[in-house]
Amino acid sequence: MAVKEYDIVVVGGGPGGLTAGLYAARANRKTISIEKFQPGGQIANTEDVEDYPGFEHILGGELAQKMANHAKKFGLEITSDEVTEIYSEGKHRMVITASGDIYKARAVIISTGGSPNHINVPGEKEFAGRGVSYCAICDGAFFRNQVIAVVGGGDAAVEEAMFLTKYGSKVYLIHRRDELRAQKVIQNRAFANSKMEFVWNTVVESINGENRVQSLSLRNVKTGEKSALEVGAIFIFVGFVPNSNITRELLAKDKNGYIITNDRMETSIKGIFACGDVRSQLVRQITNAVGDGTTAAVAAEKYIEELDD
Ligand code: NAP
Repeated sequence: MAVKEYDIVVVGGGPGGLTAGLYAARANRKTISIEKFQPGGQIANTEDVEDYPGFEHILGGELAQKMANHAKKFGLEITSDEVTEIYSEGKHRMVITASGDIYKARAVIISTGGSPNHINVPGEKEFAGRGVSYCAICDGAFFRNQVIAVVGGGDAAVEEAMFLTKYGSKVYLIHRRDELRAQKVIQNRAFANSKMEFVWNTVVESINGENRVQSLSLRNVKTGEKSALEVGAIFIFVGFVPNSNITRELLAKDKNGYIITNDRMETSIKGIFACGDVRSQLVRQITNAVGDGTTAAVAAEKYIEELDD
């Protein structure tokens, strides 16, 4: 298989990767973005986006397409393939894909995002984007004055449930045990919130509705008792896994597996940069992924310039 040479290979085609690709290509660097699914990453599967400045409301798929077209206009190549491994060979970074292609790059930008864990019950897939959500900031406002359920007992579930009380008439937090995993300070805030109601020792067995979520079938794991809960939406926060296991050499990560970078988006491996959701940071939004992508591309460009000197 022929080795394809590029200045910069961007792994992942979400908002961070496409922005990195746009800046790198616009700086006249031969750049390719390799994306496993369709361009846009998670936003391609997001129904509505209304927190990206300049667009009061846009479909996630449409924003993804606009970002991809914009980057292509400046010369970014986009290909559909899965990157299976990245390793260093002297001054080059080698990128291997599932279809057997080998890319030889001077710099690599990892923008592989992450995936929210699922609870894998009937209705979860069917109602995704129609009442099943994994992002309170993105979708909370669609459920104003409705009853909302949240699943999970960690920091994310409890914090996001409290955020959702801004919109919902009531927020049920459904947890499989009788004590939360979340930090005590976060728990105490939630217990003091009069719009929150806790459903302990309970799991969701199915998510039901006609065209959108209307109710949940629940089971108490201690008593076996079954019940139904009428809700307009269910937000699932049972952990998020960063897609950060693609380098052969050890990459510095935080305790949750997110890649650690400095403010130039440099990772612990020279010539490898990271941006967006896969990076260790406070928030995971389109806006900061785009900012990260800009920084990663400019820093990669400077890194290549230094290699040339
Ligand atoms: P997490 O801490 O791993 O908690 C996941 C929660 O989901 C746990 O309560 C777990 O129950 C529950 N769960 C897992 N699988 C489930 C299933 N199949 N069905 C029902 N419930 C299930 O995940 P996270 O809340 O996303 O947080 C991830 C990391 O980010 C943590 O280290 C967290 O501290 C950090 N974080 C921090 C902040 C903050 O500091 N403000 C905010 C968000 C996240 P069990 O408890 O029974 O295992």
